[in-house]
Order: sequence, then C-alpha cells, then structure tokens
Amino acid sequence: MNASTTIVKPHDLTLAQTSHQLTTGAVSSVALTRHALDRIAAHQNLGAFLHVDADGALALAAASDQRRASGQARGPLDGVPIAHKDIFVTQDQPTTAASKMLEGYVSPFDATVVARLKSAGTVSLGKLNCDEFAMGGANENSAYQLARNPWALDRIPGGSSGGSAVAVAARLVAGATGTDTGGSIRQPAALTGITGIKPTYGRCSRYGMIAFASSLDQAGPLARTAEDCALLLQAMSGFDERDATSAQQAVPDFVTGLHAVRAGATAEQPLKGLRVGVPTEFFGKGVAADVLEATRQALAQLQALGATLVDVSLPHTELSIPVYYIIAPAEASSNLSRFDGVKFGHRAKHYTDLADMYKKTRAEGFGPEVKRRIMIGAYVLSHGYYDAYYLQAQKLRRMIADDFQSAFQHCDVIAGPVAPTVARQIAGDSGHQADPLAEYLADIFTLPASLAGLPGMSVPAGFGEHGLPVGLQLIGNYWQEGTLLHTAHAFQQTTDWHQRTPSSLA
Ligand code: GLN
Repeated sequence: MNASTTIVKPHDLTLAQTSHQLTTGAVSSVALTRHALDRIAAHQNLGAFLHVDADGALALAAASDQRRASGQARGPLDGVPIAHKDIFVTQDQPTTAASKMLEGYVSPFDATVVARLKSAGTVSLGKLNCDEFAMGGANENSAYQLARNPWALDRIPGGSSGGSAVAVAARLVAGATGTDTGGSIRQPAALTGITGIKPTYGRCSRYGMIAFASSLDQAGPLARTAEDCALLLQAMSGFDERDATSAQQAVPDFVTGLHAVRAGATAEQPLKGLRVGVPTEFFGKGVAADVLEATRQALAQLQALGATLVDVSLPHTELSIPVYYIIAPAEASSNLSRFDGVKFGHRAKHYTDLADMYKKTRAEGFGPEVKRRIMIGAYVLSHGYYDAYYLQAQKLRRMIADDFQSAFQHCDVIAGPVAPTVARQIAGDSGHQADPLAEYLADIFTLPASLAGLPGMSVPAGFGEHGLPVGLQLIGNYWQEGTLLHTAHAFQQTTDWHQRTPSSLA
C-alpha cells in the first residue's frame, strides 16, 4: 500500500461523502448501518441515544440496498443512517420526549419530518436524548440520562437537542434531526463543534413534533457540514396540510444553492457583495473573551472571502430573555395540559378521584424544570397578570422582530456568537444543581431569531478555553436559509474547524 494512503473509516465520512459511496457501490447501507450500531454500542457512555433500533435499522438498510440492486435511481439520502431527536413521534420506535410522562409510549403515526426522511430512504438508528420536552440548554433535564460532550466528558453538550449534537460530534451518525424553540439546534451544535440550522418558522412541519411552545418550535438538521445540513433540510422542508402554521412557501434547491455564484464574486472571493451585519449588542459584556476572539476571527475570514462587515443594532436583544421566558412557558403550560393520565402516557397507580389522578399523574410524570415552566406559564396567563406579562411580552416580541427588519435594510446576514461561553461542566457530576436563571440568561443570542421566526445557523468557528468548540451564528431574513447555507459552505471551504474531531474518539 502506498505510504500516503490513509484508510478512511465510514464514520469519518460526511453525509455527502457517504451518499457518494452508496451511489458508486463502494459500500452498502447494511454495512454502514452495522458499523454505526457497533460504534453506538461502543460509545454508550456519551448518553446520546435513548433508544437504539438495530433490527428496524438493518431492515431499512437491506431494503435500501435492494432498491439499488434492482437498478432504481438513488436519491441523495437513500440508505444513509441517521437518528431522530426523541421529540418527534415515530410509529416504529418509542417516543418519550425524555420524560417519564411518556415512558413506553409508541405513537400510531410518524411525525411529518420523520416520514419525509423515511421516504427519502434514510435509515433511522433510533431516538436521541434531549432535555425533557425540549426544555433546557444542557441536556441535564433528561429524565433518563445525561449526555456528555465528546470534547470533554465532564462537560455539557448543550441542549435541548443534546443527544443529536453528541451523536453527530462523536460521528455515531452523519446527521440527525433536532428542534429549536429558543436555540436548541444552534446552541448544542456550537458547543460540540458541528453545524446546525433552524429554518424559518413554518419551513418544516410541526406535525408529530411534541409541542413545547408552538409559536416558536421548528425542526432542523444537525450535521458536520453545511452541505450535509442542506441535504437533510431539503428533505425535511415543505408545506404540510396537517400543520396549520406550515408555510406554502416554495422550497428552493438548497444543495445546488451551495455552489451558486454571486454576482461579482470570484473564486477567491465567493462572498463578494455579501453584507454581514455585526450587531453591537452581541459583542458586549457577558461574552467570554475566548468566544469573542473566535467570533472576531470568523468575521475576519468572512471578510477575506469578500464579504463586507456592517455595524448594525438590535436594541431589544436583552429583552428577548424575559419575553421568551414568558411566552414559551405560557404556551408550554397549555400544550402540556394534554398529559393528564387519561389518553396516553403515565398514570398514577393510587388516587382517590379524577382530580387526584390528574394531580398525582402530573406530579410523578414531570421533572422539576417542566413543572417550573408550567407554573410560570399558568401564572403569566392568569387573570390579573395576563396584561402585565403575556400581553406585554407579545408587544415586545414584535419590537424584537422589527429590530431585525431595520437591520436587514443594511445587511444580508447577521453574524455573532451563538452562546456567551464554551460548554460548562456538568452540574450533577459535582453534586450541584444548575441555576435555572443562569441557564435562561445564556440563551440571550439565540432567543432573538426564534422570537422573530427567522432562520439561524451555527457554524464551527474555532476553539476557546480548554480546547472547547465555539460556534459562529448566522441569522438570515425570512426564507433565506439558502443564503445562510451558501455563506457557511463558503466558510467551510477555507476553514477546517468543522473537520476537527475530539482526539479521544478515533
Ligand atoms: N434553552 C431554551 C429553553 O430552555 C431553548 C430550548 C429549545 O430551543 N427547545 O427553553
């Protein structure tokens, strides 16, 4: 063998490369699936999966191989192993939302996003860990197990799509689904050094996505590259008559769009003409020095690629925390009322009457953070407080959205940090409990785009303290996922942050 030949292991391939290998026949879907299952078993300590479906996955893989053997044209995702956040309902695998409330629950139908990825030929390996009902930013609120950051096992991977981020960062899968209500795709992607995109509200159907805060919840992919995210988002997107908030908006070809040539651009300067807005409020106090440094370097790289940096202002950024933490719990308190022990999920064994059954069921089934949100939500919606909290928050939400529209008068994308710090240590390991308020404050840079319903992305942008990953956030105007993916792809052609892998995981 030639000395310079390196043996590429299947898990080192990106989703796009895996897809290419399946097309050429260099590898079979069954072989890829077996390899992934072995790797998942070998890395159980990471806590990424809540459920692994080896038999189901191998059957899907065999069916995919069969399709190719019979000469059927292959779609780009056919035969590719992935996994789903356990907030999407699935009829072949249990769904828990990482809550004891739904222990053992099996849905009679698939979420639309799951069904679309299934009909694109993907092989679902199982269900991924997350914060209970997607409430949290550290995956510490899972009722089942912690998820650990592959870059440092004593650190959080972020959340709520923590299991999705861990599975991709540890290369157990090339891509995974996640959901983002206030940052749950972007923040774990940033903290684990991978790429993730939350599309515009309405781009992906919420049908079968267990509702947390319905006016904010969006599905999206997590993967190692922008190209892989484009491939997954393509299949996930589009109108669905079963979700009244899904949009009729045409879905562009995200993959072709990656290679689109901007007017006036050159090979060296593919981003020429792109105006990148830098919001003052995203670079102030509260952002750790290492995160600031990596973010500034990433902005300089965008400039080197031809982009122009423009100062913009999002003056209501700070208010996004109180606004989100009123609106999201208000919607959650209503959405979670369906978990009452009657139709599905947990039911208390001993009770005196119906009211007692409700109370005991909910007391036993929900974890502390979920209860906290239900109480806050019920309070801000209650008579006498509604106007002061909920209504006021709705008005401010509009001002936050308006800030973005003013900024987009001067720029095409907005760039800044995703999270104020690199991944912190897991609280439970030291016997401490995370401080809920501190957790809420750390969401400051992801909440504004969520409240405005705008697409946002996290792109690996370097490393900070303790060699931990830092993500660059890109925010676009409505339906501009293509611009975000194109920008991130150009960035990834000249940087290798997204190719770095934790040295402990061969
Ligand atoms: N960390 C935020 C929260 O706890 C966001 C969660 C999410 O996007 N699902 O609500």
